[in-house]
Amino acid sequence: MTISKRQTSMRTHMCGEIGTSDISQTVTVCGWVAKRREHGDKLAFVDLRDHSGIVQCVIDNAVDVRSEYVVKITGVVRPRPDGTVNANLSTGAVEIGECVVEVLRSAEPPPFPVDARADDVDENVRLQYRYIDIRRERMQKNLRTRAKVNSAVRTAMENQGFVEVETPMLVPSTPEGAREFLVPSRKEPGSFYALPQSPQLWKQLLMVAGIDRYYQIARCLRDEDLRADRQYEFMQLDAEMSFVTKDDVLGAISEAVMAAAEAVLGERPPQIEQITWLDAMNRFGLDKPDMRFGMELIELTSVFAGTEFKAFSQAESIKGIRVDGATYPDAAAYGRSKLDALTDRAKQIGAKGLVWMKVGEGLALDSPVAKFLSDAERAALVAAMGAQPGDLLLLVADTWSTTCDVLGTLRNDIGRPPVHEGPYRYVWVIDFPLFVGINATTGKPQPGHHPFCQPHPEDIERLESDPMSVRALAYDLVLNGWELGSGSIRIHEPEMQRRVFRQLGISDEDADRRFGFFLQPFKYGAPPHGGFAFGTDRLVAILAGEENIREVIAFPKTQSGSDPMTNAPTPVGAAQLNELGIRLLPPPAKS
Ligand code: ASP
Repeated sequence: MTISKRQTSMRTHMCGEIGTSDISQTVTVCGWVAKRREHGDKLAFVDLRDHSGIVQCVIDNAVDVRSEYVVKITGVVRPRPDGTVNANLSTGAVEIGECVVEVLRSAEPPPFPVDARADDVDENVRLQYRYIDIRRERMQKNLRTRAKVNSAVRTAMENQGFVEVETPMLVPSTPEGAREFLVPSRKEPGSFYALPQSPQLWKQLLMVAGIDRYYQIARCLRDEDLRADRQYEFMQLDAEMSFVTKDDVLGAISEAVMAAAEAVLGERPPQIEQITWLDAMNRFGLDKPDMRFGMELIELTSVFAGTEFKAFSQAESIKGIRVDGATYPDAAAYGRSKLDALTDRAKQIGAKGLVWMKVGEGLALDSPVAKFLSDAERAALVAAMGAQPGDLLLLVADTWSTTCDVLGTLRNDIGRPPVHEGPYRYVWVIDFPLFVGINATTGKPQPGHHPFCQPHPEDIERLESDPMSVRALAYDLVLNGWELGSGSIRIHEPEMQRRVFRQLGISDEDADRRFGFFLQPFKYGAPPHGGFAFGTDRLVAILAGEENIREVIAFPKTQSGSDPMTNAPTPVGAAQLNELGIRLLPPPAKS
């Protein structure tokens, strides 16, 4: 027997879909009792809920149904009496009368109300009873938005000729940068698998294998501290293509993202713009710029080129942001404590200090620092920043990267709208540096993305002499200040891969030992290739208007990495450990 999308052997209609066109019809609905109200001795109103919504049923008061009982109700649809129509409910014009009620399952009272009031319940409790939390409209909507995104992404990739290939979950440790989850081997005690940080190496090998266009909605696992936009395990649309340049990859991924956005919001976003990493840093201070608002960083180093003010003359870079009084009217009235808090925040991010200036009438600068600047410097500063009375100017003088970092963060703190507000602003950030910073343990550069990114052809000659200045053919996709994902054109020549590994402090012998399985195949004819991966949890969260990806994941871990429902992670018994050849150290002393 085939069943329709909604009907089953047990029901004829979904609760939320009953309307005036069903009047006089006999219907059967199934669901959970959302609410029961007595109506005199004889009658009770029951709001019955399924994922589609709620319908009011008028039942015999003697029937014992309570909150969250699972029931089947058969009755006749009729208009609600005058004056009792509920405009807030899709089914608010009708009710089901003459009801025959069958209790399919009784239920204990739920630990929290199964409606919007649960938003205020402690998240641990929501997660402990996630199966009840998910009954709520918000979670139902979010999980269905998620399914829409996955389905739209799949269709978009398949329409572009991508082939879905699954890659293994038990893999060796790979040098992609994140801390890995390890899985002990029973057959080879003392040896470990890693859970994949991403299918990176496998998708590249699929290119060597001639698959040409691969995609997968892949589960990735990283043992990193959790945040609002990060879980240990998360989903990515992972893709790789052969015989391509950057624009081919960006085009294919843009198509998938736009299809997902259109499926959820009903309208296709405009062409995604591009900005270089260097421009993003100079203008917005961060490599994931939220371009929905202005307050861009203003370059001031040359304004203070000849200054006698030590804090400025000794700095590599001076930049400022103008918190304009017209948009942020209270900025000029910030009191001491607010300004001190901004300064503390700047120091926390790594600045030596923060210079603030309030712009008064006649463009006079009110600031503890103003007296150290010459008239000409003050005038040049006001001109460079386009300052107006009522503005608050914030300046940082430090290394270039600290200046960017601090002002980029303060700009977000002060001006960033909630994630779901304002237009959706997608941007490709291109030309990331090949290396970022120096690894404290090895003293060697660290990869900007991962070690498989192709160095920019214009910069390759400086790979050994000035590695930190080399750009990569690497790019990120950013939406409203959230990094959705990254990708690159890959190295496909073993010798170039070795040159990059050497810069990272991985010798040829080390590379052969650890990644021989990856380097070896490249000798057998690797095509030029590139790819990308974006986090579908993050995309769904933004499209669903949620600030936290936990709200769009059915069974997430808490911020501290545990699962209040199953209590994972849990200790295991000695027998299981013995089998794996593992003996535990005493737990570290609590500090
Ligand atoms: N594997 C990378 C990541 O997960 C994405 C890519 O370079 O394709 O971030």
